[in-house]
Amino acid sequence: MTFIPVCEPTLEGNELLYIKDCVETGWISSTGKYVKLFEDNFAAFTKSKYAIGVTNGTVAIHLALVAAGIKKGDEVIIPSFTMAATAFAIAYIGAIPIIVDVDKDTWNLNLNQVEKSISNKTKAILCVSIFGNPCDYDGLNYLKNKYNLIIIEDAAESHGSSFKSIPTGTLADITTFSFFANKNITTGEGGMITTNNLKYYNNCKYFKNLCFSLTEPRNYLHKDIGFNYRISNLHSAIGLAQLEKSNYYIQKRITNYQIFKSLLEKTTKIIFQKETQHGGRANWMNSILLTPEYTERDRDNILDNLRQFGIDSRIFFKGMHIQPALKKYIKYSKIKEFPVTNYLSTNGFYLPSSTNLTKEQITHISDKLISLL
Ligand SMILES: *Cc1c(COP(=O)(O)O)cnc(C)c1O
Repeated sequence: MTFIPVCEPTLEGNELLYIKDCVETGWISSTGKYVKLFEDNFAAFTKSKYAIGVTNGTVAIHLALVAAGIKKGDEVIIPSFTMAATAFAIAYIGAIPIIVDVDKDTWNLNLNQVEKSISNKTKAILCVSIFGNPCDYDGLNYLKNKYNLIIIEDAAESHGSSFKSIPTGTLADITTFSFFANKNITTGEGGMITTNNLKYYNNCKYFKNLCFSLTEPRNYLHKDIGFNYRISNLHSAIGLAQLEKSNYYIQKRITNYQIFKSLLEKTTKIIFQKETQHGGRANWMNSILLTPEYTERDRDNILDNLRQFGIDSRIFFKGMHIQPALKKYIKYSKIKEFPVTNYLSTNGFYLPSSTNLTKEQITHISDKLISLL
């Protein structure tokens, strides 16, 4: 068998047709019809009132925080088990990421620890639906109402998931998505914010485009310092084509994961992420967690051996609480122990996760993994 990469994009629809249109008509900047088409269709896909396209998933989080009025010195609670962008975006505005551990079953925020971490400076919970597993919105909304907080969701990994049949993108006050090449829907690089809140929407549009006035004629006077986070027509053209096939892409990734699970459940040496109660889990990467009898070294050896069989993989994220870049924030966190995140990051890894994996490839990968275990 040939080399199986950890993830490659599937571009099987109208991507080339729409890109050709951009090039032929000269509309390649952020002015062009595909930006609005992509935004409108993404709003419909998430059943949101508003969608705002941006250049990537990291700036989407930054812009969402700014739009929601998070300021310097405010505390924002995040899970330790996430990608660094979640924490960095908070640091960009001088706010403080308050790190808590994740639940041992769902791998999402541990809400008991969240409640213990709330102070009079806490403004928001920035939850992450990790690997496509939706967050527990019954618990989050309880805390939101009790402590008057804003819920922001980093849904970079969970396009197509839902909670109680409500799609991700409408569950939080403001939600951010990434369209990096390995995500469920991709534009290569790209991002989106969704919200039902008109004020947040207008703030996003305003700050995304250098704080040019949304209402007054363009006089090149700026009342605030803004950013250029505009997505291009070219990226949006790819995004529109991806959205046309989104149901297929999302369902295929779920099916691939189910096949992996059914084949790998034979061994008792793998733990799978537990779906959130009332959740509709999408599937980002095919994630595997080895039982505690394995060490980090064992895990790394298994991945080296898989690579020799032509099977690529990636280790899980490392916790935010051990990031050298975030050292100065950890003293603000009331939670001092992160056993679940530590275990996930030493024993977890992703198997190949491309949408277009075949059943033969999945069987081959599973056989090799079982033989190594
Ligand atoms: C991919 C990802 C991001 C960042 O998205 P980019 O588009 O790469 O900037 C943020 N948060 C999480 C959880 C991610 O997986």
